[in-house]
Amino acid sequence: MNILFVAAECAPFVKVGGLGDVVGALPGVLARLGHSVRVVVPHHGLIDDGRFGIEPHHTFDLRWNEGITRVEVAHTVHDGVPHYFIRGWPYFARIDRFVYHQDEGIDVGRFLFFAAATLEFARYLAGSEGWSADIIHAHDWHTAMVPYLLSRVYADDPALGRAATVFSIHNMRYQGWGVGWHLARAGLPPVDNPLLLAAKRTDNALAIGIVHSTVLSTVSPRYAQEITSEAGGFGLDGLLHARLSNLVGILNGIDTRRWNPATSPHVPYRYDASTLDRRVKNKLALQAEVGLPQRADVPLAGVVTRLVEQKGPAILFPAMHHMLHYAEMQFVLLGTGEYQYENEAWWLGQAFRHKAAILLAFDEPLSERIYAASDMFLMPSLFEPCGIGQMIAMRYGSLPVVREVGGLADTVSPDVGFLFADYSPGALQWTLGRALDVYYNDAAGWRERQVRAMARDLSWEASARRYVELYERARDVHRQYA
Ligand code: ADP
Repeated sequence: MNILFVAAECAPFVKVGGLGDVVGALPGVLARLGHSVRVVVPHHGLIDDGRFGIEPHHTFDLRWNEGITRVEVAHTVHDGVPHYFIRGWPYFARIDRFVYHQDEGIDVGRFLFFAAATLEFARYLAGSEGWSADIIHAHDWHTAMVPYLLSRVYADDPALGRAATVFSIHNMRYQGWGVGWHLARAGLPPVDNPLLLAAKRTDNALAIGIVHSTVLSTVSPRYAQEITSEAGGFGLDGLLHARLSNLVGILNGIDTRRWNPATSPHVPYRYDASTLDRRVKNKLALQAEVGLPQRADVPLAGVVTRLVEQKGPAILFPAMHHMLHYAEMQFVLLGTGEYQYENEAWWLGQAFRHKAAILLAFDEPLSERIYAASDMFLMPSLFEPCGIGQMIAMRYGSLPVVREVGGLADTVSPDVGFLFADYSPGALQWTLGRALDVYYNDAAGWRERQVRAMARDLSWEASARRYVELYERARDVHRQYA
């Protein structure tokens, strides 16, 4: 099958969170299963072209808003898969120092342009290289207008009309409001779907993608259920109910070649499940690096996160104030995000200078040193579509302490990690207390949990096969309606 991935992020070129991990890993696995995969992402200014051998590919003119925009396509091959990068002034300019704009309204315009340019580029691929997509796989609201434009503008196009669309929801919280104005400005058809009109969601990119895609997926079975409830649907649960028969939850994997404590150049003292004794050297090295007392015997809890409401700062910080006050433990947090949460994190570090290290940065090599050094890894999320952090942590033998929601509930079992249900500081404290009890009083039990964690199959292979089944289903459904 010919599969075109379209997304806002793709590791290792540009990554903000788990979306980048997924789009960075899944295409290569599908290619190894024998499919022809290509990936299109915006040519964000932050992408380091020199490092990745990204070269100009070709340019074309796109009628856009009041004039004509010259679209520049660049290209490289990564993991055996051709990757294309799209820019057109003023969108995704070389000087931009962000992936997502603070103002969602501006992002809606940037990503509508990206969707339109991507589809024109897909026609070019068909015309000049004879490669036309059977499946276009779009991710999150940023690319939700791809299925929309495909069904409204390109339905009869000889190259694109045959493509079925798969739309994967990585997070219901971000929806892309205000798209109607940008559609009108670009002279594109207004949204008039009766479901969207009735739900008053004609202006909402995520809702538009949900309604116009051939099939839908989300990133864990538990999250697939949660988003159809009022609490998890963020106002779109009704629309999802209307599409329930075409919605599946497929768990993310991780790139187990990239994330491997036995081989990664970013792990100072490499280890595997049979050499776990070496792991403590990574703890001592990290303690020295971040200015904590070097103590092998004290448990170190790690967090690597975007600092936003979803990740549970409202319970994390009060719980850590309590735990660092009363328990013999250390804490290291690496994260960036909203000012109020960065501020709270910083104050925690000030209150416990010898027990907590707060690093307000985005730093992937440092994140890996934290995964390899911490004894436990905390994800007390309010909601969590899948979560990549807890999976990397398990692969590195850091035991996850997580709230039992979404993908955390689907990936962390009680024989490996520590789970709690209630969204309260007390529940997190109590669960951390349980973890500390095992750490201090049952070293053999702790080691067994680590070995089980590291033995878990977190690779993409099984999930990639489920995506292939979904692509086949999408093709059947599309043929039926075409
Ligand atoms: P989300 O996509 O909601 O942010 P996930 O757990 O799915 O959450 O994915 C987060 C990914 O981003 C993980 O690979 C994690 O290691 C990485 N990450 C998050 N914050 C940072 C940071 N400050 N520095 C380095 N990596 C980070």
